[in-house]
Amino acid sequence: MMSDRENAQLEPEPQPGDDVYEISLRPSRFEEFVGQDRIKDNLRVFVEAARRRGDPVDHVLFCGPPGLGKTTLAMILSEERGVMLHSASAPAIEHKGQLAALLTKLEPNDVLFIDEIHRLPAVVEENLYTAVEDFRIDIVQGDGPYAQTLSLPLHPFTLVGATTRTGLLTNPMRSRFGYVARLDYYPPEELATIVTRSAKLLGLPLEGDAAMEVARRSRGTPRIANRMLRRARDFAEVLSDGVLDHETAKEALDRLDVDGSGLDEMDRKYLRVIIEFYEGGPVGIETIAAALSEPRDTLEDVYEPYLLQQGFIARTPRGRVVTKKAWTHLKIAKPKKGGGPAGEGQESLF
Ligand code: ADP
Repeated sequence: MMSDRENAQLEPEPQPGDDVYEISLRPSRFEEFVGQDRIKDNLRVFVEAARRRGDPVDHVLFCGPPGLGKTTLAMILSEERGVMLHSASAPAIEHKGQLAALLTKLEPNDVLFIDEIHRLPAVVEENLYTAVEDFRIDIVQGDGPYAQTLSLPLHPFTLVGATTRTGLLTNPMRSRFGYVARLDYYPPEELATIVTRSAKLLGLPLEGDAAMEVARRSRGTPRIANRMLRRARDFAEVLSDGVLDHETAKEALDRLDVDGSGLDEMDRKYLRVIIEFYEGGPVGIETIAAALSEPRDTLEDVYEPYLLQQGFIARTPRGRVVTKKAWTHLKIAKPKKGGGPAGEGQESLF
């Protein structure tokens, strides 16, 4: 599940109805979930073992950029274990009482999914520790000298946390999870399988390399691939009798401003700022954020992971630098060595 903030930053722009659309395309079983094979295989074993013993699945943490399937895996896990999933977003759990209300609703072995778990308020987080370890929560009743602490037993449950930023999670919180799974961006072949499956569910005929074209230009992210497909379907209905062929897919994606490497307008702006204002870097993240008028968090959570993974940028102790691949991709000639103070020392990086 994504916050509105993250939703707003991914291309193409979400449209009314996308939520319903996302739900209808969401796999509900491990066998329908494409890729991330090692994680899937491990989870299958944990779920099966827990089911045989009649225990809850051990607590699981999913890390990775938005749209890679963290929420979906939490749903599949509860579905396959045959229990209910209860979802909450960490910033919405503002105090201990709200946490207690969530926890006391859980039936034996249920799954509590907390999205953006790195954003839990400290006092809530501390109370969650005893809940996940001892399946109890302490509640203080009354005030001042008459205050009494009640220890409320809870049913055994599974905590599934999701975070875009493992680095921001406290050590005590991270160590409460029996299994930490890091989701990676999907290779184009797997995204093409997801696109083909989604097209089938939507009753949209695909021709030639249309699925691969959408896949290659979706930033390695299933949520974006599904959105692109939906937008491409609009073009197919208007331009080619409802069939999505390779040409129509290409045309649709060009019009949506996604380039051949899957970079969207914001990705390109990010690279341009470093190249045009700072001659390729190094430049600090705060400076880039200010130049783009984007929160630093968004750049670090949403944009940089993909640009790093694709080799367009690198992190150095002195800040971000763009790589040769970025200059080439944007068709900008790199200035000669010694061209200016910011350019000095850059050649050695490439
Ligand atoms: P996250 O919680 O990581 O932001 P979600 O689990 O909400 O991401 O996934 C976004 C959408 O992408 C889902 O609605 C689902 O349709 C699709 N999706 C994600 N991962 C996969 C996958 N491995 N196979 C098929 N569809 C997927």
